[in-house]
Amino acid sequence: MAGEPQDDCLFCKIVAGQVPATIVRETKTTVAFRDINPQAPTHILVIPRAHHRDAAALAAADPALAADVLRETQAVADEEKLDSYRIVFNTGSGAGQTVWHAHAHVLGGRGLQWPPG
Ligand code: C5P
Repeated sequence: MAGEPQDDCLFCKIVAGQVPATIVRETKTTVAFRDINPQAPTHILVIPRAHHRDAAALAAADPALAADVLRETQAVADEEKLDSYRIVFNTGSGAGQTVWHAHAHVLGGRGLQWPPG
């Protein structure tokens, strides 16, 4: 069922404390942690505690929760003192999504090129 923890989901395990992560912020509905393979000096993932497979599914099932995730990306950027940063939701394997639990990448601390690869 949408939103329920999935046994085979790595990020559900991070939410449950079963897989270690460097958590930087937590709210009632979200968790933010440093990406294990950072692509920029600041690279933090913001995830909903509830399981949704990608950003599109999250927005469709629970728009208020999608807004919580977006609000937290701003909080992370403020805490990291980023004046410029990028928020990325890789959606689908062709776009590079590898973990099937919705997550926002917050990237900053260096110049970022456009268009992305
Ligand atoms: O958008 P995508 O699905 O590729 O992003 C998944 C991200 O999760 C990757 O950037 C990867 O480095 C990160 N990751 C992590 N901790 C893990 C496993 C993956 O931060 N234990």
